Amino acid sequence: MRPGSEDYGAIRGGAIGVRDGTIQWVGREADLAGPPDTLAREIKELPGSWVTPGLIDCHTHLVFGGNRSEEFERRVAGQGTYLSQAHDGDGILSTVRATRAATADTLTESGLRRTRQLIREGVTTVEIKSGYGLDRDTELRTLDTASQIGVGLPVDVRKTYLGAHSLPPEFLDDRKGYLDFVTLEMIPELAKTGRAHAVDAFCETVAFSANECRRVLLAARDAGLDAHLHADQLTDGGGAALAAEMGALSADHLEYTTESGVRALAEGGCAAVLLPGAYHFLSAAQRPPIEHFRTHGVPMALATDMNPGSSPVLSLLVALGLGVTLFGLSPVEGLEGVTRHAALALGLQGGRGQIEVGMRADLAIWDVDHPRELAYWMGGNPLRDRVFGGVSDQDTADGGACR
Ligand SMILES: [Zn+2]
Repeated sequence: MRPGSEDYGAIRGGAIGVRDGTIQWVGREADLAGPPDTLAREIKELPGSWVTPGLIDCHTHLVFGGNRSEEFERRVAGQGTYLSQAHDGDGILSTVRATRAATADTLTESGLRRTRQLIREGVTTVEIKSGYGLDRDTELRTLDTASQIGVGLPVDVRKTYLGAHSLPPEFLDDRKGYLDFVTLEMIPELAKTGRAHAVDAFCETVAFSANECRRVLLAARDAGLDAHLHADQLTDGGGAALAAEMGALSADHLEYTTESGVRALAEGGCAAVLLPGAYHFLSAAQRPPIEHFRTHGVPMALATDMNPGSSPVLSLLVALGLGVTLFGLSPVEGLEGVTRHAALALGLQGGRGQIEVGMRADLAIWDVDHPRELAYWMGGNPLRDRVFGGVSDQDTADGGACR
């Protein structure tokens, strides 16, 4: 996954040295300073396997109450569309009701279950957004649940406050009042208590305008939090340009982004997070402008967008496969999208996403003949072992629970 390298940056007959959870050496085994047993206390032989960076799911909403399979069943029977159902009281607000009604234990239990699905496929870092509570208590409960997931499982959790996801029912006639609450109360409190790493907003005609989102991202910047933006998913609302203007780490979705929006992302150093699960699940009509991203050098990440309404996708490998088949990424672009570029989208590029000296020893070990197979088998799981911070799942008690 080294930038600009040939053939996935592959090192055949490779060796990796790990100490204190960090990669200390990487190269060909033949270039080691001596026989491995003279250099290391513990040796793991991985004959016939490929080792990639641990996978990073950089965009999920995996903590929520209930699910929307009923709404899904009605929609596929032709009763309404995603947007018309949202107007009829289904959609995000039905998940808001279910999440507000859920206890912390229920949220933690279902969140752990979903995260285990990701871990089983080699994920070592996952981003989790709030945004199904919209009131103070439920948003805090969601973010604290995300923290609990990181405590309970060998995975690093990055937490994002998505208060500007939808207007809550109690503020339907007072958009400004809700944005005051998000920007003047919630964001400063979350920054002060360290409960969130970043802030996100849903820039869309059915959610918040570019000006409203600018206000939210400005508050994030003032509070010293990172920013992401749900941008241009269903219409071109100028979201990509706004994300770039605000110095966001990523702009996500981007189906309707124009070339000038792509140019802004490139100039702003903003990653494009592509979410083919939502595109597939909503039978969307327009693909994101992949050619423009390539031409202008915008790094493309891929993520599950795991959420109950538009992307109930529990597999990052499936998202990788869909990124290739539906969006036209090459298999190596897809793998970059769930490793190096996903790290970039979370601002973690200095410490993970590649197998490189100084990076955290987060690794996925695969029973495949070539890493292109990760984009090829759909629904299969060739993971043989996973290493999180230098510790192998096979060597730990809760590795059993993960696998
Ligand atoms: Zn999302």
